[in-house]
Amino acid sequence: MGNKYEKLPPLRQIVEDSGLLSRYGFSKKLGQNFLFDLDITRRIAKTAAPLNGYNVIEVGPGPGGLTRAILELEPNKVFAIEKDPQCISALTELTVLSEGTLSIIEGDAQKIKPQELINGPLKIIANLPYNVGTKLLIGWLHDLTNISSLTLMFQKEVALRITASPGTKDYGRLSVLSQYLCNVSRVFDLPPHVFKPAPKVFSSVVHFVPKTRGKHDLDLVPFIEKITGAAFSQRRKMLRTSLKSVFSEINLDKVFKIFNISPTERAENLSIEQFINLAQFMSSI
Ligand code: SAM
Repeated sequence: MGNKYEKLPPLRQIVEDSGLLSRYGFSKKLGQNFLFDLDITRRIAKTAAPLNGYNVIEVGPGPGGLTRAILELEPNKVFAIEKDPQCISALTELTVLSEGTLSIIEGDAQKIKPQELINGPLKIIANLPYNVGTKLLIGWLHDLTNISSLTLMFQKEVALRITASPGTKDYGRLSVLSQYLCNVSRVFDLPPHVFKPAPKVFSSVVHFVPKTRGKHDLDLVPFIEKITGAAFSQRRKMLRTSLKSVFSEINLDKVFKIFNISPTERAENLSIEQFINLAQFMSSI
């Protein structure tokens, strides 16, 4: 571990000194719920270990609690994308101490492709701003080139949807897409009081490891999205009704027969494999 980061002032002091709190307060709009407990940020960073030999992208470093923990694990480079200029000034000392390892990028992570920042294997680690967390995840899932893992904090409710199994109330579009492309696990939950300010809900860290997928498998993604979009937007309806908007009547009959799916079944009871079958069929007609 690189002990040099232990010389830094406590995060609360950094926040006070930078005026993050006093000038404007935390920004709700930017989903600012900060972690000041380094034991917790180290736990998140360790979920993504090893970092040695990898480049890391962090979204929303804030005052840098998770960034410190990432740097302690000695990655090659860390690119931290932050939208709030006030946070960026709070990161100056950490940037200097990292001696070139940490680069801060001021901007909107929704507009920056990880692969444009770094060539070669990279890991994404973030305590995500909740308002754009799902959107960012879906963007990354659409191009997992060079991404070795993603370790991301979401609202617990979103984490449950990502990792849900068929037949449960949380199972939906996000479960199918995430689990088709990655092995996912909900690693641990955190209560509201460990964040400053405390959100209303629990949070969870989810670890994603992309599956090796060939071009043909990736070409299925738009079909999977189309089918799950139709199926889960009317999740209480039977598939013979909910899939009418994406298959003609003849093809719907065919697909139910070929894959032995009951037309009266509901979307939440179809396995990921069955959704893939439907997508394969749709891509072939
Ligand atoms: N990583 C810090 C921590 O764990 O204490 C802060 C996490 S806080 C939940 C989310 C951070 O993302 C905030 O610093 C916020 O300013 C930043 N942020 C919000 N929207 C963003 C965006 N679109 N692009 C980049 N950063 C963003």
